[in-house]
Amino acid sequence: MRPLAYEEHVLTMDGVELSRIASKAGTPCYVYSAAEILKNYRAYDDSFGDQPHTVCYAVKAASNLSILRLLAGAGAGFDIVSAGELFRVLKAGGDPAKIVFSGVGKSGAEVDAALEAGIFAFNCESEPELALVDSLAHRRGIKARVALRVNPDVDAATHDYISTGRLAHKFGIDIGDAETVYECARRRENLLVEGVSCHIGSQLLNTKPVVEAVDRVVGLVQRLRAKEFEIRHVDFGGGLGVAYKPEDSIPAIGELVGVLRQRVANRGLHVMVEPGRSIVASAGVLLTRVLYRKKTGAKEFVIVDAAMNDLIRPALYSAHHEILPLRQTSVGTMRADVVGPVCETGDFLARNRDLPQVFPGDLLAVCTAGAYGFAQSSNYNARPRAAEAMVEDGTWRVIRRRESYEDLMRGEE
Ligand SMILES: *Cc1c(COP(=O)(O)O)cnc(C)c1O
Repeated sequence: MRPLAYEEHVLTMDGVELSRIASKAGTPCYVYSAAEILKNYRAYDDSFGDQPHTVCYAVKAASNLSILRLLAGAGAGFDIVSAGELFRVLKAGGDPAKIVFSGVGKSGAEVDAALEAGIFAFNCESEPELALVDSLAHRRGIKARVALRVNPDVDAATHDYISTGRLAHKFGIDIGDAETVYECARRRENLLVEGVSCHIGSQLLNTKPVVEAVDRVVGLVQRLRAKEFEIRHVDFGGGLGVAYKPEDSIPAIGELVGVLRQRVANRGLHVMVEPGRSIVASAGVLLTRVLYRKKTGAKEFVIVDAAMNDLIRPALYSAHHEILPLRQTSVGTMRADVVGPVCETGDFLARNRDLPQVFPGDLLAVCTAGAYGFAQSSNYNARPRAAEAMVEDGTWRVIRRRESYEDLMRGEE
């Protein structure tokens, strides 16, 4: 699986031996391919061609400064969901004029920080939020550009926890009520009501729900323009899935963008998208070392030094991640649960998995872990968070050192 390849039975990322990184940086350690991140970003950017567009990377998927700097250098915009993410993007040299601020619960301090930075637009999710943005913009004597995030009520056909576009979800404004809310927004003097946004969910497996959502949003744009709203941009959010299993078939980035382009062509709209997972997931692996093998009456366990605090996706979403040995051998296979040291039965990276025989000391790569991996990691069980490294131009470097025990207690009395 790209960007990984076995070269003489040794697993490499873009030509760099992963075991060298593991032995120098230690395990558990996330490793990202800069080339793969750029390839995915450019697949979006290039596919839009001459359609005016901005690709706003969703920072929450993986927010390391080196990843943000790489994308900022390639011309990306950013989708943020907190002032902390704004702080990161600005530190990484991101262009404030290409930032959109999403999220259902922005605080006053967060809105004000974004106004100060001069972001492109707020994706607003409720009338009280519009009132807050309006009053804080007034206080600064500026006008804030807003899009209303509408909820198009489509079924994203993905995991319940990452589906966001039904009326039963907390996100957005019911598309049926949207015109009324736009009228309220228009009466607020410090808002530029110029956009419509939506985001229907994550790990979408086909373009059908996206097409439905886009058609509903474009329909709304037409109705708003008929009422003399100057709608200039549409933001279709993120959500494109990635292949976690070799047999998963997911539309290519270019295919999704093709569908979007076709439906917005010649309408005088600037199109924005907010991909997170589809930019970084395939670029990242989590390296871990086998500590023990253990057999109970019912099962065999491979106990490794990475745990649910490092990668919570299997526990939280029953997610599947391929696991590859860093060195290929021919000693046969085994079926096992791959589990970490955390004191929870939910602490597993894989269940009932057919693996090559592995032994204590062996190194493994948990694949497709670049998105919502490190970003969702925690210090549960007083475990320092993993190191992060980046492979770029045939070499590698640490981009976040492993946390120390002192780091664990910072700020405590
Ligand atoms: C999470 C999120 C995204 C990114 O979703 P992916 O599935 O990672 O592409 C984009 N926009 C909003 C509003 C989000 O909440």
